[in-house]
Amino acid sequence: MNTTLIIGAGGVGRVVAHKCAMNADVFGKIILASRTKSKCDEIALEIKNVTIETASIDADNTNELIEFIKQVGADIVINVALPYQDLTIMDACIATNTPYLDTANYEHPDEAKFEYKEQWARDDKFKEAGIMGLLGSGFDPGATNVFCAYAQKHYFDEIHYIDILDCNAGDHGYPFATNFNPEINLREVSAKGRYWENGEWIETEPMEIMQVWDYPEVGPKDSYLLYHEEMESLVQNIKGLKRIRFFMTFGQSYLKHMEVLQNVGMLGIEPVEHQGQKIIPIEFLKTLLPDPASLGPRTKGKTNIGIVAEGLKDGVKKKIYIYQVKDHEECYKEVLSQGVSYTTGVPAMIGAKLMLEEIWSGTGVFNMEQLDPDPFMEEMNKQGLPWKVKELEV
Ligand code: NDP
Repeated sequence: MNTTLIIGAGGVGRVVAHKCAMNADVFGKIILASRTKSKCDEIALEIKNVTIETASIDADNTNELIEFIKQVGADIVINVALPYQDLTIMDACIATNTPYLDTANYEHPDEAKFEYKEQWARDDKFKEAGIMGLLGSGFDPGATNVFCAYAQKHYFDEIHYIDILDCNAGDHGYPFATNFNPEINLREVSAKGRYWENGEWIETEPMEIMQVWDYPEVGPKDSYLLYHEEMESLVQNIKGLKRIRFFMTFGQSYLKHMEVLQNVGMLGIEPVEHQGQKIIPIEFLKTLLPDPASLGPRTKGKTNIGIVAEGLKDGVKKKIYIYQVKDHEECYKEVLSQGVSYTTGVPAMIGAKLMLEEIWSGTGVFNMEQLDPDPFMEEMNKQGLPWKVKELEV
């Protein structure tokens, strides 16, 4: 029987724990460990069909992780803590020869910057340890990379243009809240935009480029160009690519709040002195904002995330749209969580399932598009994330 160790008991951790329990024949014994054990216990209590063991762990501490992974005898570590913990958890997996999976690329806590460099640099060590590391197995990155690989495998000889389109049309009724960890989310959307064209990265001001996209089952939405991490690996792995961009929808109220928070310095990541105490503004803001995990019961509406790929098949131009639509309330009914955590947690579970079943295998670190997309796409249909392909006019 397998032993599955999930690290992180936030919004995504809850979904991963529920979905692993629904696939207990593959995941076997499930251990949920996080900084705050009470959060793990709360999730374990929600899950009725399987007993989830819980533990407290400091995932910033590699030695503590190594001891813990050995103690529980994990066959896989699913890292759904924060991107700051990626490297310590990867190093503990290397030291214990344990397969590793995450959903977001490493971000240095003191720099609002995320990239794969340091995770890719561990490729040799993963190979030496004879283990697989799967990077970015959420929705975006994650399912969007798989959509690109699926388009490349089944629809194109060469893909020239990709737009990744991420729409969350959910309404939680608060004037301002973020759908996942506020610090990570706000750092991402307040950063400069960037896209890749003809071999070069082109930088834009934050929210400088906007297009209106008509999302199936949702309707037209303002969609803003952002930098997003899956582009870093896709530019290397998709044949013939000339341009790739990433767009995310934001409502006017969200943008107004962001602008004000930015202008008054609340998004700052440097410590400031406040009445004799050092505080980091964005961390303090996180304390004030609603906990993303609490949005579940109040969020209504749908998410729609997909990719539009354009290129050539047998010398003829072709354009397709692969997308997935999910209803927030349906997610809550199934796993007590809103759609953003759901659409991240389910692909994390699927990636881990394919690894444990050795349907996805190999040694070293992999981005999602480097693996056969078909079994992942099949699992998405079975595990609550059905997708569609639509041919568009070129
Ligand atoms: P949350 O902030 O809700 O949860 C993070 C969890 O990690 C919390 O339980 C937290 O513990 C725990 N944690 C933080 N630091 C440590 C530590 N040092 N040791 C042990 N546990 C720790 O985040 P989400 O669940 O929303 O997101 C989880 C991950 O998913 C993030 O990396 C995020 O970037 C990624 N993500 C990926 C997406 C994708 O599509 N690829 C989309 C959305 C998110 P505590 O409760 O004590 O704070």
